[in-house]
Amino acid sequence: MRKVYLDHGATTPVRTEVADLVYKYMTDNFGNPSSVHSFGREAKKGLDHAREQVANLIGAEPKEIFFTSGGTEADNWAIIGTAHAKKDKGKHIITSSIEHHAALDACKYLEKEGFQVTYLPVDADGMVRIEDVKNAITDQTILITIMHVNNEVGTIQPIKEIAALAKEKGITMHTDAVQSVGKIPVNVDDLGVDLLTVSSHKIYGPKGVGCLYIRKGTKISNIHFGGAQERNKRPGTENLPGIVGFGLAAELIGKELKEEQERLTKLRDKLIDGIVERIEHVKINGHRTQRAPHNVNLSIRFIEGEALLLSLDMRGIAASSGSACTSGSLDPSHVLLAMGIPHEIAHGSLRMTLGKANTEEDIDYVLEELPKVVERLRAMSPLYNKKQ
Ligand SMILES: *Cc1c(COP(=O)(O)O)cnc(C)c1O
Repeated sequence: MRKVYLDHGATTPVRTEVADLVYKYMTDNFGNPSSVHSFGREAKKGLDHAREQVANLIGAEPKEIFFTSGGTEADNWAIIGTAHAKKDKGKHIITSSIEHHAALDACKYLEKEGFQVTYLPVDADGMVRIEDVKNAITDQTILITIMHVNNEVGTIQPIKEIAALAKEKGITMHTDAVQSVGKIPVNVDDLGVDLLTVSSHKIYGPKGVGCLYIRKGTKISNIHFGGAQERNKRPGTENLPGIVGFGLAAELIGKELKEEQERLTKLRDKLIDGIVERIEHVKINGHRTQRAPHNVNLSIRFIEGEALLLSLDMRGIAASSGSACTSGSLDPSHVLLAMGIPHEIAHGSLRMTLGKANTEEDIDYVLEELPKVVERLRAMSPLYNKKQ
């Protein structure tokens, strides 16, 4: 049976050359970068090189890159670290209602500490409105954190415009760029952000590593304690195999970005158009054009998302019902609900996220199988039969 992996938003396979390098830094170059001997110096060289590779991908200086255990830690650090560093200036934070839980839950935690958080609504396409950001800013606002590309529906947010508003008022601007880095061009100066989150395993690197970009001069407190690593900002012996793997993955994806962006956009549109042509009562979720090239998200009426995923899985197609973190729970996606999609429709939603290995034949296979699966599930659905 054909196997089609369409869940690159959840994670990506590690490139072979990256895995080889990770192995080398677990065996030959196993030193601790803090050690003074040759083993340590060799390790330190790998660490420095990775920092340059990641910095290059996002147009930053190497000294502005701070390695973390992944996107979640970087989001937590950006939000909690900024709040703690600037609490004497104000206690108000602005975010959106469609953030990843790594950001949302950090904001909720801060509410318990006495901070006020505004969760901005989004329009039907999942887009934050600039007007809403403007209206939410008060003289107490210390941080705006809004994601660059949404992980569920792929909508690209107007970060540059929001960052300009933040800058005007001296507010720190953070963006979670986990789903945009490596998919569309991301440049910290062009966006005008102070803090930016990247995760390695969404760009064909190993899991458990990522970074927070911190613009020179940005006020941020530590959230971990215990050592001088990462220039006294993020203690703990570095995950060197992960970091060098992340570095190489960043360099390689940067080289392919333009070509892949065009190729995936074509595949994405072929998939979307093909589904709309073949299946009735389908709604495409997310902005049609301001959308990451790898993301397809749709609601298929009168069927249940989990049943759809299982049927697709039996045909070798791996997709998701939204974000990997919320699947397994029965609550519909907070992102789709925030976009105004009713509960019963949000339940029948399907996310397919494309990647490097996907081909035109993969899309043809999905376009052949998906309508059959939908037809079979609808035949069993009391709602669908009542409708007819
Ligand atoms: C995957 C993801 C994260 C979490 O990154 P991890 O490295 O898995 O902790 C954060 N934000 C977004 C938008 C993501 O897609």
